[in-house]
Amino acid sequence: MRVSIIGAGHVGLVTGACLVEKGHRVVCVDVDQRKVDAVNRGECPFYEKGLGELLRKHAGARLQATTDLHAAVLETDLTFIAVGTPFDGQVIDLTYVKEAVRQVGQALRRKSSYHVVVIKSTVIPGTTDQVVRPVLEEASGKKAGADFGLGMNPEFLTEGEAVEDFMHPDRLVLGGIDERTIDVMDELYGAFKGVERVRTNTGTAEMIKYVSNCLLATLISFSNEIANLCSRLGGIDSVDVMRGMHLSKYLSSVLPRGERLSPSILSFLAAGCGFGGSCLPKDVNALIAQGKARGLPMRMLESVLAVNEEQPQQMLARLRKHFPSLAGIRVAVLGLAFRPDTDDMRESPAIPFIKTLLSEGARVQAYDPAANRPAQKLFAPGRVAFCDNLETAVNGAQAVALVTRWNEFLRLPELLQGREPQPIVVDGRRLLDKNSVACYEGIGL
Ligand code: NAD
Repeated sequence: MRVSIIGAGHVGLVTGACLVEKGHRVVCVDVDQRKVDAVNRGECPFYEKGLGELLRKHAGARLQATTDLHAAVLETDLTFIAVGTPFDGQVIDLTYVKEAVRQVGQALRRKSSYHVVVIKSTVIPGTTDQVVRPVLEEASGKKAGADFGLGMNPEFLTEGEAVEDFMHPDRLVLGGIDERTIDVMDELYGAFKGVERVRTNTGTAEMIKYVSNCLLATLISFSNEIANLCSRLGGIDSVDVMRGMHLSKYLSSVLPRGERLSPSILSFLAAGCGFGGSCLPKDVNALIAQGKARGLPMRMLESVLAVNEEQPQQMLARLRKHFPSLAGIRVAVLGLAFRPDTDDMRESPAIPFIKTLLSEGARVQAYDPAANRPAQKLFAPGRVAFCDNLETAVNGAQAVALVTRWNEFLRLPELLQGREPQPIVVDGRRLLDKNSVACYEGIGL
């Protein structure tokens, strides 16, 4: 199929590259000329495992990038909208979606054949039908259902594992205003054999995305609240508590031969310094706002955010146990991105953590295997010493704070062996064995 994708960001570009890998022809459209040029050179404009290889393989052939949205729509059969939907502090901001859709509509005015427009951006329930549809109809002068199809196909990829997630999806949610639209989406995903499809309306598709993310955020905040209580009670390690809970047959079923299935949901039932990224905080916020707008306070989700916002403070509390004043203390911050295998700094817990360290006069030396460069833009020049490797980051540090779960940080105990004096290690992800370093502090311990 010939596909255009509006927005060549984390979702749009992964979608484009993977659909090409599955045999389609794709044009990625972005307003950012630098991104477009990078894609056409076969270079990835951001760090995402495996995406660079796909771009090198397909750019200039079945994968193209352009700033010319109209031409891209006219020469394709289906258009994905994959632009950002930020939370503006009150509600989800649909400015980019509306603008992209308006332009797609204008292009459709000049097109005679049937075309399908699919929203891939995360939008609150009701958006595709009540916001996108009228904008498209007005800009195109055509009727949804009769002249063009309109669908909603949420994306569930996780940054850092996005290519793998897209190529091997756990589900395909195909929301559409009619069967014809859903059939076209089904055909697009024809190569994804055996993957369960949910064929539904657009509002349900939108809601499935939100509840999926809200559940994950809820599990994280639940685990963190329990971990904080374990710490407060003393003599209880939340890692053991969680492990005992994970062994419940409801969470990890035991097969007849005694083998245990360990579902990946368990990774969300673990203590840490909080969730971040471009999705979980934003999506929980957006659903709370939608509930409020309908006169339904979302009390549980509000607590999920409240717990999360305070969680980076748990790292600071552990530092303060050893350094009542942080002024002049050299703190190595390991990990800056919101999760491993990505350079995405959006809403990363490292940001409030480092800001507090700086405001209290600590000297911060930071290292992330991928996110040093984007992180540099977030702090005043010279305030944070960004290090090229783990060794330099921990050199001379009185405290080491582990914020992101990069596998590389498993080397830390070996690296610190024999050092005098030993730094305090505050493990914000409970990545290390608590007995592997001389002075260990962990969330939930
Ligand atoms: P992003 O910020 O990485 O990319 C958005 C891109 O859209 C940018 O490159 C921007 O320049 C471009 N853009 C904006 N307006 C445009 C226009 N009118 N025409 C062409 N290009 C335009 O965003 P993202 O992380 O890819 O997220 C996109 C959507 O997908 C959001 O709704 C997000 O919530 C959702 N989502 C994101 C993830 C994730 O892990 N990042 C996962 C699932 C869903």
